[in-house]
Amino acid sequence: MAIKTDVLIVGGGPGGYVAAIKAGQLGKKVLLVDRDKLGGECLNYGCIPSKALIAAAGHAHKSKKAKEAGFDDPKHQLDWTKVIAWKDQMVGGFVKNIGVLVKGNKGEHLQGSVVFTSANTATIKLASGSSEEVEFRHAIIATGSEIVSIPGFTINGAEIIGSKEALDLKTPPEALVVVGGGVIGLEIGTFFAKLGTKVTVVEFTDSLLPVIEKDLVAPVTRNLAKLGVSVMLQSKAKSWTKKGKRLEVVVETSEGDKKIHCDKILMSVGRAPRSKGLGLEKIGVELDKRGHVVVDTEMLSSVGNIYAIGDLVGQPYLAHKASREGILAAQSIAGEPLEARGQVPWAVFTDPEISWVGMTDGEAKAAGFTTVVGKFPFAASGRAMAVRETDGFCKVVADKATHRILGAGFVGANASDLIGEACLAVSVGVTLEQVAQTIHPHPTLTETFAEACEVALGHPVHMLLVKREAPVFS
Ligand SMILES: Cc1cc2nc3c(=O)[nH]c(=O)nc-3n(C[C@H](O)[C@H](O)[C@H](O)COP(=O)(O)OP(=O)(O)OC[C@H]3O[C@@H](n4cnc5c(N)ncnc54)[C@H](O)[C@@H]3O)c2cc1C
Repeated sequence: MAIKTDVLIVGGGPGGYVAAIKAGQLGKKVLLVDRDKLGGECLNYGCIPSKALIAAAGHAHKSKKAKEAGFDDPKHQLDWTKVIAWKDQMVGGFVKNIGVLVKGNKGEHLQGSVVFTSANTATIKLASGSSEEVEFRHAIIATGSEIVSIPGFTINGAEIIGSKEALDLKTPPEALVVVGGGVIGLEIGTFFAKLGTKVTVVEFTDSLLPVIEKDLVAPVTRNLAKLGVSVMLQSKAKSWTKKGKRLEVVVETSEGDKKIHCDKILMSVGRAPRSKGLGLEKIGVELDKRGHVVVDTEMLSSVGNIYAIGDLVGQPYLAHKASREGILAAQSIAGEPLEARGQVPWAVFTDPEISWVGMTDGEAKAAGFTTVVGKFPFAASGRAMAVRETDGFCKVVADKATHRILGAGFVGANASDLIGEACLAVSVGVTLEQVAQTIHPHPTLTETFAEACEVALGHPVHMLLVKREAPVFS
């Protein structure tokens, strides 16, 4: 006999498990099915493990660099086996907790692979090998995205690895070629460089993190050079061969082909939606050219009772975007008023970190605003000095007419945490004056946000404005 449920949720990542919890809270009978572990790519192979390893390598690196602040331990050794074991234990704990949260909100969870057989039925191939049929009123598909590669560089988990394998290496490689200078490649490349790996980044375009504004990327590029990372821009990984125990990568550059020797090649050229093999074409779910499920503002697909969320429906591929979409889908199914979709902030966990929310200056101008920009350097912050993290700044973009903050961001230490206040400011539409007049605790990096607003207003306290930095309004 088929299992009957109100809502079938396929995929237990940050989109699917949050949708399951919310739908349960809204009184729906929920069945959450994932073929792998709860938490999805983010918890098991992405956000959390990568940030754990970035932090571990960061501790080791900082201790090496802290001599002038009085820390002089000659060893600075990191036991990588212990680091990986700690990371796995922490992730395992979170996976269990998600199961508890889903169950605690009256959701059922099964491990298995789902294929849709009609708009109201699906087959679940269980991990045990047997199958279950399920009948549902609504479905939420949250199957995420998967790594892609380039011709000649098929990920084999041995020589050519993806982010999942890179976050589980038993020992750091002596030399690593990172193909793709985007977010994931640089986050992983940076922590390996801090562990002593010789890292070479091969990037096709003329800049690292090509989609991010150049001034925000500059401190990251500078620090990569300090870490000894070789960056090859406007270059293309062409082929690779095994040379004894090592690998030789041929890179096409404007100066001709170059050969780089390494032990592993990390592919980080992008990801694609995981929409194949689910039976979506058969039941009439519309996909775009890249394979994303096409959805409306309520996350509803072209089939009236089937929703899709997260990486599967398009960029940005971010966990918090997936979670918000999961909440919207659950609310829509339950007939509840929908929360605002909101601005999607982003953070890059390079060294230093970068974060942003809202419009960039260019985007604001393109949208018809006359803007004013304020920038406050970390070098003028007492806290940044005290924690020896002075490379970075806060930047605010505001509407010249109303002083409403349209976008804001940071490059520098803790940029990923600092963006929280800016998210609230941009989403509720506060003004430069409102942030500037808010008392921020001292000494903290949060003060840089208020000071950047003061710069935009033309009267910062801890910085003298030279003519070229003066704001465009009085
Ligand atoms: C290395 C790395 C670092 C990242 N760091 C960050 C970060 O710092 N911050 C951030 O916001 N984002 C980060 N991301 C992106 C983030 O992981 C994704 O945006 C997020 O996981 C998407 O969530 P999702 O719920 O859409 O899908 P996923 O998390 O991909 O989950 C999809 C789930 O669906 C399951 N599934 C697939 N097909 C089926 C099927 N047929 N039947 C049953 N189950 C199925 C899969 O097993 C998987 O568990 C990172 C990604 C990577 C790879």
